[in-house]
Amino acid sequence: MEEALIITNRSIVIKTHINGFPKETDFELKSEALSLNVEPGSGHVIVKNLYLSIDPAQLNRMKSYSTSQSHVGSFHDMQEIRGHGVGKVVASGDPEFQEGDLVAGELTWGEYCLMKPGVFYFRKLDSMGLPLSCHVGTLAYGGMTAYAGLFEVCKVKKGEKVFVSAAAGSVGHIAGQLAKLHGCYVVGSAGTTEKVELLKGKLGFDDAFNYKEEADLKATLRKHFPHGIDVYFDSVGGEMLEAAVANMNLFGRVAACGAISEYTGSGRKAAPDMVEVIYRRIQIQGFLCPDFLSVHSDFISATCDHLRSEKMVSVEDISTGLESIPSSFAGLFHGSNIGKTIVQIAVE
Ligand code: NAP
Repeated sequence: MEEALIITNRSIVIKTHINGFPKETDFELKSEALSLNVEPGSGHVIVKNLYLSIDPAQLNRMKSYSTSQSHVGSFHDMQEIRGHGVGKVVASGDPEFQEGDLVAGELTWGEYCLMKPGVFYFRKLDSMGLPLSCHVGTLAYGGMTAYAGLFEVCKVKKGEKVFVSAAAGSVGHIAGQLAKLHGCYVVGSAGTTEKVELLKGKLGFDDAFNYKEEADLKATLRKHFPHGIDVYFDSVGGEMLEAAVANMNLFGRVAACGAISEYTGSGRKAAPDMVEVIYRRIQIQGFLCPDFLSVHSDFISATCDHLRSEKMVSVEDISTGLESIPSSFAGLFHGSNIGKTIVQIAVE
């Protein structure tokens, strides 16, 4: 008879719903026994997590209520926080996956993840010679969201004037670089001097400003865009969205990607001037990255080329160890991260 191989799987769970700013003390470490013996043909696959993506929108699933939950579900049982990640198969009852395969997809905030058929989406990963962390950020949701928002939602054209908020973050720093590579004039906003310098220096934005130092965002955007904004890539919502709409050109387009200033309930909800929207024929379109899977292979090939030719920089903010998940997650809402927030759980 086969001997049962039991390991201890540690994971991060939430103690209770989080309805404001997340704090490290909202989370706790849980340990559970996990058997590595999987029944052949059961479809169960056990993955050792290597890198986990830490994302602001996960907060909306931790709340007692958010309208987003009717679309993407909630973490109401509090026991299994899911997000994108990369891992390695350590046991498989599915003939499609072998021990040692690298996989990417929906994993849990733990050291191991038991993938059950039909419950988790994951696939084999070909790293294409690029670091595994790239497959958590720039080559995953972060980059794909930037690509879809710019090219599919806003249909950005060469020479257009593009404004990107949260520009030093995961989605923003790729959106700005893609717009520059497309021949646009690009200005970004971010919350620290260090981030502003990164945008104007290494990332090649035409200009950038620290929104926390500006008292009048409408006037600030008018100064940076004296001839108006054609495309606004919006990750923050709130007052910045109102200010951008007030500076949009005729037939301007807004990619409504995220509204992080509104997620914690602390900022004002955006109320753009709808008369401006109508008379200037401004299009504000919400979107979700998975809406654009049809262009995923175009995105991968274009982005890999940019990374290999070093025309694009992938900025990553990687912390180490499961215990660092709560602080990395809470930090997103205080601007602590620069680039894509990732936690490395184990070495490959
Ligand atoms: P991120 O930009 O890497 O991290 C969040 C950043 O937001 C922080 O670093 C901070 O930078 C900024 N921020 C935090 N609170 C803010 C506030 N009150 N006002 C203005 N800025 C604030 O995160 P991300 O993963 O790229 O996500 C960015 C946005 O895109 C989020 O809203 C997220 O929900 C959304 N998103 C949408 C999709 C989709 O499919 N639609 C996919 C991925 C992400 P500063 O220092 O600049 O303040």
